[in-house]
Amino acid sequence: MKRIRNFINGEFVDTGDWFDKVAPYDGKVVAQVAAAGKREVDDAVRAARRALHGPWGKMGVAERVDILYAVAAEIERRFEDFVAAEMSDIGQPAHFIRHVDVPRGAANFRIFADVIKNVPTEFFETATPDGRGALNYSIRRPVGVVAVICPWNLPFLLMTWKLGPALACGNSVVVKPSEETPQTAALLGEVMNAVGMPPGVFNVVNGFGPDAAGEFLTTHPQVSAITFTGETRTGAAIMKAAADGARPVSLEMGGKNAAIVFADCDMDAAIEGTLRSAFANCGQVCLGTERVYVERPVFDEFVGRLKAGAEAMTPGLPDDPASKIGPLISEEHRNKVLSYYRGAREEGATVVTGGGVPAMPAGQAGGWWVEPTIWTGLPDSATVMRDEIFGPCCHIAPFDSEDEVVARANDNPYGLASAVWTRDLARAHRLGGVLEAGIVWVNSWFLRDLRTPFGGAKQSGIGREGGVHSLEFYTELKNVCIKL
Ligand code: NAD
Repeated sequence: MKRIRNFINGEFVDTGDWFDKVAPYDGKVVAQVAAAGKREVDDAVRAARRALHGPWGKMGVAERVDILYAVAAEIERRFEDFVAAEMSDIGQPAHFIRHVDVPRGAANFRIFADVIKNVPTEFFETATPDGRGALNYSIRRPVGVVAVICPWNLPFLLMTWKLGPALACGNSVVVKPSEETPQTAALLGEVMNAVGMPPGVFNVVNGFGPDAAGEFLTTHPQVSAITFTGETRTGAAIMKAAADGARPVSLEMGGKNAAIVFADCDMDAAIEGTLRSAFANCGQVCLGTERVYVERPVFDEFVGRLKAGAEAMTPGLPDDPASKIGPLISEEHRNKVLSYYRGAREEGATVVTGGGVPAMPAGQAGGWWVEPTIWTGLPDSATVMRDEIFGPCCHIAPFDSEDEVVARANDNPYGLASAVWTRDLARAHRLGGVLEAGIVWVNSWFLRDLRTPFGGAKQSGIGREGGVHSLEFYTELKNVCIKL
């Protein structure tokens, strides 16, 4: 049986306390994972703090950049190992993992190495009463030990999205992967050793959240800042933990994202984009669409075509080229998604397609499969229109005017992303301005440039990361004033 250990001060460490990692596609145990207790978390944080004063802390930017490039290259060299680990952790089709998750992992190190290499600082000449003046310049310093708390839905992509900038800025990190997806963080420990990353700069502690590794880490007094991706409720708990010691947080949290389809859109593109945004990664994407609003003249056409697309999503094993959709991550999550499927029916939804569990071959019947599901006919106040479900499902509603649909899209506590499908350029700009979301896509979805700001409005997040925006969180900007 494969064993996943914690990675502390450059070494893989057992704890004697193991929990099972189960493959989502058949429910079988694929690995045992060493749960970090308070002691291991403390060891990891202390190692990270020591690293700030060792060779890592003394390294110039150019040298740090070289190490990050080497990390990216080593990830690419071990590409298939990362793909295999991610396949057995999340169970999604290999095609998705090969084209999205793992390449982005390498890119996250490269892009932030480029950012830190090129970032300018401010400089001001200041007049003084004696006429000799003063010079002011700002410098960026690492914040210290950064705790990185990760979700399970795109584990490698989302973990490295935080690690790239944290390390580029010269911090040391302690990562807590989701208990559901521990494998790629362990592989990254091997990568760090292979490229000569000084011990203690990158540490991994495994385990659960409350009263376990997650909470031990976020409440550790030697942690300087906490960056988190996950559910809004968890983010709120972490914010409370961060209040002790007044530590900064960056929170990327849940969404209940709307897509708005106007009658003048390129319908093929809108269908293709909405199929991806509703069903990619089995609907387990924070940016995914669970509310679709379609202008009335094209409503029936859109519903019919999305239904056909959803029904063509063949479920299957990750390495089966015919597989278009994988399972949900866990039994617990499937129970949650199926309870929303039942709730939608009870609240009077018309089930256009899906709504249950697909029949799978014997070997896969123990996995956490659900059918891609589409509803119509619910009011915006229905539970499935308000809560984040995080499954392969969406509700489609008709609308009659731009003002009406903007008000309906904004009437939600979340504000992560929106997708607008239209050929009307002026309208696209208007909606870009008024939709309450951190990201508005026009005629696309999930098109990301890593230099752009990323984050959520309202209950979807606090702070922005991406490009130079990440520097605001991962560095302390200080001013040096020199009297001449
Ligand atoms: P989660 O909140 O359940 O868990 C996230 C991480 O927090 C896990 O590592 C977990 O062990 C840890 N954790 C849980 N309780 C904790 C506590 N009290 N203290 C410290 N750590 C704790 O989220 P999840 O189910 O893993 O991920 C799915 C959620 O993530 C969805 O809501 C999704 O929208 C969100 N998400 C958001 C973004 C974004 O960019 N905004 C990206 C991906 C996922």
